[in-house]
Amino acid sequence: MAENVDKSAVAKREEEILAFWNERKIFERSVAQDAPNGEYVFYDGPPFATGLPHYGHLVTGMIKDVIPRYKTMRGYSVPRVWGWDCHGLPIENIVEKQLGFKHKKDIKDFGIAKFNEACRDQVMTYAHEWERIIPRTGRWVDMQNAYRTMDKPYMESVWWVFKTIYDKGLVYEDYRSMHICTRCETTLSQQEVSEGYKEIKDISVTAKFERVDMPGTYFLAWTTTPWTLPGNVALAVGAAIEYSTVKTDDGNYIVATERLGYVMGEKKYEVVSTARGSELVGISYKPLFDYYAKDEKLKNRENGWKVYAADFITAESGTGIAHEAPAFGAEDWELLKQVNLPFVQHVNFDGTIRPEVIAFAGMEVKPNAEDRVRMATDIEVLRYLQEHNLFFSKENITHQYPHCWRCDTPLLNYATSSWFVSVTKLKDELLKTAQNVNWSPEHIKEGLFGKWLEGAKDWGISRQRFWASVIPLWVCEACKAQKVYGNVADLEKDSGQTIVDLHKHIIDEVTVSCTCGGTMRRIPDVLDTWFDSGSMPYGQVHYPFENKERFEKTFPAQFITEYTGQFRAWFYYLHVLAGATFSTNAFQNVVAHGIVLAEDGKKMSKRLNNYPDPLDVINKYGADALRLYMLSSPLLKAENLNFAESAVDEMLKKNIGRLNNVLEFYKLYENGTPRDFKSAHVLDRWIIARVNALVGEVTDGFEGYALDEAVRPLPQFIDDLSVWYLRRSRDRFKEDGEDKKAALATIRYVLHTLSRVMAPSMPFYAEYLFQAVKEGEDEESVHLTLWPEVLEHDTNAAQDLTRMFATRLIVSQALKERETLKLNVRQPLSALYIGKTDVYGPDTPGISEYLEVIKDEVNVKSVEFVSDAGVKLDTVVTEALLQEGLVREVRRLLQGARKDANLSPSDTVTSAVLEAPKDEVEILTKFVDELQVATKIAKLSFVEAEKKRVILEQK
Ligand SMILES: [Zn+2]
Ligand SMILES: [Zn+2]
Repeated sequence: MAENVDKSAVAKREEEILAFWNERKIFERSVAQDAPNGEYVFYDGPPFATGLPHYGHLVTGMIKDVIPRYKTMRGYSVPRVWGWDCHGLPIENIVEKQLGFKHKKDIKDFGIAKFNEACRDQVMTYAHEWERIIPRTGRWVDMQNAYRTMDKPYMESVWWVFKTIYDKGLVYEDYRSMHICTRCETTLSQQEVSEGYKEIKDISVTAKFERVDMPGTYFLAWTTTPWTLPGNVALAVGAAIEYSTVKTDDGNYIVATERLGYVMGEKKYEVVSTARGSELVGISYKPLFDYYAKDEKLKNRENGWKVYAADFITAESGTGIAHEAPAFGAEDWELLKQVNLPFVQHVNFDGTIRPEVIAFAGMEVKPNAEDRVRMATDIEVLRYLQEHNLFFSKENITHQYPHCWRCDTPLLNYATSSWFVSVTKLKDELLKTAQNVNWSPEHIKEGLFGKWLEGAKDWGISRQRFWASVIPLWVCEACKAQKVYGNVADLEKDSGQTIVDLHKHIIDEVTVSCTCGGTMRRIPDVLDTWFDSGSMPYGQVHYPFENKERFEKTFPAQFITEYTGQFRAWFYYLHVLAGATFSTNAFQNVVAHGIVLAEDGKKMSKRLNNYPDPLDVINKYGADALRLYMLSSPLLKAENLNFAESAVDEMLKKNIGRLNNVLEFYKLYENGTPRDFKSAHVLDRWIIARVNALVGEVTDGFEGYALDEAVRPLPQFIDDLSVWYLRRSRDRFKEDGEDKKAALATIRYVLHTLSRVMAPSMPFYAEYLFQAVKEGEDEESVHLTLWPEVLEHDTNAAQDLTRMFATRLIVSQALKERETLKLNVRQPLSALYIGKTDVYGPDTPGISEYLEVIKDEVNVKSVEFVSDAGVKLDTVVTEALLQEGLVREVRRLLQGARKDANLSPSDTVTSAVLEAPKDEVEILTKFVDELQVATKIAKLSFVEAEKKRVILEQK
């Protein structure tokens, strides 16, 4: 990531804090320090280092940082170790592209060993970029000791997991219909398939299947995959559905009666007879192609090219008759097994048509290409049907079709051999242990996750690829005996070889002698990379070969987080493997966050250039502002966020900017601030009650893993502190004395508490603030302190909060009234009338303090309670009030001029001149002494002029 912008002062300050943390080893100490509450276990979902971190990674990372920081302050030790996901198609595809490979065959020609080593070299390409960016976002995590899924200890734990669940009878091999990618030449899991649905154009065709017993009469069957027609071995009807035989100009056709209108369209026809599907069963038809039908050695040939009844047939679409190609459809495959159909697979695993299908030999059935090329084979089949009088009609369709999540090739349904984890066997238990998990937001539990779990099918875990953990299963060439290895030592003993690496190109060379005297070789398949990710709790600590006791004490984890889409991926596989190995859930609390989109609501896209570089944003506004923006956003409710850079800017200005003004003000006067000072001042009592309430709100949010609810009270509080407390308190700092001490002690207490309560979410500014207000006996860093206590609210504090709330409401209503009446707030008025209530009236104890606040804010001489609700101003401006307003305005002008001249409050100005209109000069002359004292000007003189202007003469 290039650094395209100059670093702001905020960014530089954050970098200094980062340097301080590193130098003083604050993170390491926060993990190592005495933890009265023991260990809090957090699992890091590993990212790939094959690309750069994007906003999605950053928001996950921020959540991964906030909770552990909070728990540390609550007296836990929270080890955080980074992980890298290293295996699978993403890195294989990158290396294939670099080497210019188009097909899997290219890899085999190149050599699997060389290919795998190339993957190993490439997989950490961007690791150093991550190591630079992640800490800069404020995330504390040990990246030096990161685990990698490609390291031998990790891969050995994966073997242990596989063997454990194999021994429990939860792994099996089956030949069945799977989705395959013909470019990657591998099977894919249910989850991978669900990732890649896209709308595409296709051609559907209705073909004619001529009855053997009634030449000239045809069954009509409809298909959206014309390329499967050479694989046809049967037709299926619904037993209870009524079918009509109709007579037309070009032949007789059999179609479900309900579908006649749709299928025949404009064509003239006459119904000859009707029959139930069950009556059609057993009728033979002439195969469309004879490539396989003529093969006398074809198993079950006698059962082929007949009509069968099947439950899955409806009269809702097509012709009510289905073309059955069991090699290319799950239902078709089931029918094959039920009625012993012949098996015809005319397409290779790479998607090309086999040589015996002479008319289309070598053609790719569904390449990843533009519409014409993708449909080329279908068009050829259609043309063939037309030429051979087998064609009835065609239609252009658009439909949702699954694609490879990695290379975008349209997937095929393809009967093949695969290994499965029997999730369905475990499902009841998985559903039960899922009840132990606390989700934020809560609806994911029964919603996305719960529904996915209920619908879960067996997990296809075998892949026909290269750079991955392998399936540690050896099979005897002679007697077919199987042996699974759950650790390297046993394999070394049985094979007599030393094993340094568990990747395919090395481990496939390791053979074992079978008891029968034959040789056992590993099956060629590797594991789905999600098996790696789901094994992360065990792999990262090399369980059970190391850390056995500690792992068993700390499993399951207390906390994990990722984006919502992981409900069917990482969250799911962690849960499945924990259920399969330990009959428990893998995690107790999980935050599932939404997706960060570009400001225009589209996906963030490099090509569209519709989002700012994350590091640029951090260099402009700082990481705290970005954290505050994302963590308080709808992302934490699992909703999407349209990322707006301007909003990060606003977060900086409104929060860190304002808070820094408060701090700067405090620093200006802090000298000699007493540490413990109980103030009776209404503003002090109020802001202390407010900061304690803040601690309560933030604590509740974190305890419930509702991070947005823990973060959003911070801006509200900063607003109260800055625009109400400090603004209203400014005058109290002018004179040395008890009140000034009280105000300073209050600010210090508030900032000290605030620095701790904001530490998890805004770690940089929290540190800066803490360093400015910390006491001698305090810890070295805010991140080593304990979480502030939630003080039990006494009645007085609660009253202070509600009364100040009412006071501010009255003030804002009165100021609005002034605005409506166009009465400048600097013009004093004689009275404000307000409605009295039970808790806010003339007899309320201590009310006068609040009325003073109102008088000052609204600039009125008195506040009177009346029985009418609402507020009302006395708008009569007397001569005396007018003069007072003028004096006040001039005072402000003079103060402003002092400020422009950068004078400090204690500086005295020798002389100053005020230019003003004649009538105003006459009035002001009467107040010259008052003005001189108030503005520290030794001699103020007046000059008549059209407009007011101040000229200061320096002291
Ligand atoms: Zn693919
Ligand atoms: Zn054997």
